Amino acid sequence: MDAERLSYHRQKLLDMKKELIEKLNEKYNEAIKLGTEGVQDSADEAYNIYNKNLMLGKVETDALKLRLVEQALQRIANGTYGVCIECEEEIEQRRLEYVPFARYCTDCKSELEKKGLIKM
Ligand SMILES: [Zn+2]
Repeated sequence: MDAERLSYHRQKLLDMKKELIEKLNEKYNEAIKLGTEGVQDSADEAYNIYNKNLMLGKVETDALKLRLVEQALQRIANGTYGVCIECEEEIEQRRLEYVPFARYCTDCKSELEKKGLIKM
């Protein structure tokens, strides 16, 4: 991949990283607040727990994404970005456009997903 493309993806990843960190901080604070607010009755409590789990589920996805973004930045730093970590073929440009933190090419991704080995 040429330097121009690489820095383009790098910038995208850095923006994504910033956004995810902000989002995660926000979600964590919300979840903590829900847990500590005065609870009136058990129905409220159940609702709060439901909400909290919902939010934490979202946090989990964002945290996973953040990890993938950080790994992608790492791969840019050591010159292996844009190469599938499974088959070592180049990842399709179109795929990187949608998913700049992609680790796998489209073929490997669908194969691994079918086996239930990866979520993202
Ligand atoms: Zn592959």
